[in-house]
Amino acid sequence: MKIGVLALQGAVAEHIRSLEAAGATAVSIKRTEQLAELDGLVIPGGESTTIGKLMRKYGFIEAIREFAAEGKPIFGTCAGLIVLAKRIEGQDEAHLQLMDMTVARNAFGRQRESFETDLVVKGVDEPVRAVFIRAPLIKSVGAGVEVLSTYRDEIVVARQGNLLACSFHPELTEDFRMHAYLLQMAEEAASLRASAERSNSSV
Ligand code: GLN
Repeated sequence: MKIGVLALQGAVAEHIRSLEAAGATAVSIKRTEQLAELDGLVIPGGESTTIGKLMRKYGFIEAIREFAAEGKPIFGTCAGLIVLAKRIEGQDEAHLQLMDMTVARNAFGRQRESFETDLVVKGVDEPVRAVFIRAPLIKSVGAGVEVLSTYRDEIVVARQGNLLACSFHPELTEDFRMHAYLLQMAEEAASLRASAERSNSSV
């Protein structure tokens, strides 16, 4: 599986390393034309306002919406989660507006700007080591969104079909299972595309 990491700003190299450790071929994505060759995409942590601005500038908003509409998986981590959300608390406009959820930026306050913990994530066998850095929280989700993990009763991992989002930085530890989870989604999406193609060519 070939997985891209949106390389406009943020923790790109770390995601590339983790994706490769999980068994993917990983590439950094700087131009929209590169999306066509991918089976999945990571939108990394960093600064969501900056990432959003650069996405608009380089045509990624429409291109990534089309990518999502093809059923290909997208994994937004930290700032990437914010970029995926339909609604951002206190902001008039969101970015991709793909995931039916409302997010709050920098939701942990000053005392707990950064911390690490072990999180139980639905679909992952053992707790995941999670590094939170000025992390967002998911304040509410629509009916089509499945909550995969909570921390102190707040939502920190969620999935809506081919879209996956987490509040923390899975690329900063030696725990590659969130990346493996994305890879699994990419494999499932690829086999669905292949069978759709087979049934198209048989009519
Ligand atoms: N606080 C950042 C934002 O609002 C996200 C932090 C991160 O990605 N580590 O964009």
